Amino acid sequence: MIAVSINEARLYDRFQTMNRIGETERGGLHRLALSDEDKQARDLLVDWFKELHLTVRVDDLGNIYGIKPGSDPSAKPVVIGSHLDSVPKGGKYDGTLGVLAALEIVESLIDEGVSHEQPVIVVNFTNEEGARFPKPMISSGVLSGVYQTEDMFQLADDSGITLGDELKRIGYAGEKDFRLKDVDKFIELHIEQGPVLIEQQAAIGIVEGIQGLSWHEATFIGEADHAGPSPMSTRKDAAVGAFKAMTALHEWVLSLEDETSITFGRIAVEPHVVNVIPGKAVFSIDIRHPEKEILEQRIDKMKQILTETALRFDLDSQLEDLSFMPPAPFSQKLVQDLENVCLSEKVSYHRMYSGAGHDAMYMNRLAETIMLFVPSIDGKSHNEKEESRWEDIHQCVKVMYELVKKQL
Ligand SMILES: [Zn+2]
Repeated sequence: MIAVSINEARLYDRFQTMNRIGETERGGLHRLALSDEDKQARDLLVDWFKELHLTVRVDDLGNIYGIKPGSDPSAKPVVIGSHLDSVPKGGKYDGTLGVLAALEIVESLIDEGVSHEQPVIVVNFTNEEGARFPKPMISSGVLSGVYQTEDMFQLADDSGITLGDELKRIGYAGEKDFRLKDVDKFIELHIEQGPVLIEQQAAIGIVEGIQGLSWHEATFIGEADHAGPSPMSTRKDAAVGAFKAMTALHEWVLSLEDETSITFGRIAVEPHVVNVIPGKAVFSIDIRHPEKEILEQRIDKMKQILTETALRFDLDSQLEDLSFMPPAPFSQKLVQDLENVCLSEKVSYHRMYSGAGHDAMYMNRLAETIMLFVPSIDGKSHNEKEESRWEDIHQCVKVMYELVKKQL
């Protein structure tokens, strides 16, 4: 067992206090980025930083840093944290837990009197969710050079208010010089937001990276014709061809029995009239796999299945590539370190890839990065019913504390 460790009650109390800000009637959380609630939450976090005598800095992107200096001011920092913003009527654990776990870890370092050379920084990232300002993980994206600063400041919400103006309004437009630049390690604790850890009866998810994904739009073209007089045998029904293709793709992915996933989230037929054979069908494809080479192979095979199915139904087909995000594998060294902590602490774990994006995905470009997942009950997230067990949370934060100490 761990001799000196985190203060479970303190973490729980801070979590309750923080989540009264933006709490919904059904026990969820409504704290959109840079809203008045987000400002209150930020102010509270800054107060807690000050109580611990951390150096507080805010960069021009509104990211907040609580810095515990090390003995070597020139050493690259170890950064830990997540985000305080939520989706509309979301859950209390997504993001907030990662920020407060990081704060608890820094306070535990102080309590234990751990000396270290590198600075340890707790971070709260701006607009992770991309719910109010529609680009998720934008601030870590700017830090890592994926996006330009202006891409972020010009983002507008539904009423036309820009992110840049809101940062100024709530008093969190800080200094560009304070941006994270040279970072040694980034570690983020987050809820899983899926059912895998509960199914695996694991207390902790060791996240090896973020899955890659590829988006496409398929168009099948046949001939629109009258639903009555046209014989079944000679029809060129674009909708039937499209459904056959989707079914074939679905069965193929099931038969792989690996981490590939495929989704057809948007389907449209034309002319969309009850007594007309559809002459055109368009559907989206979202295909994912954690390894780049395999994802590329899967995309090739997917294209083959689409073409073959269209030919079989005497249809023309086109495939447009919409976007490709390569998988982001995290630091193998940190994965190994984390696994070793779990083994020595006798904590059950499961190695996995994240299906969702997180700030860690972009921080991975700046620093050696890893994430820890806490099991989500029923796998529910972005939902007021989001829930995790506190025994799992405490175990996960303890393990993260040991992992952070190993890096210092
Ligand atoms: Zn999140």
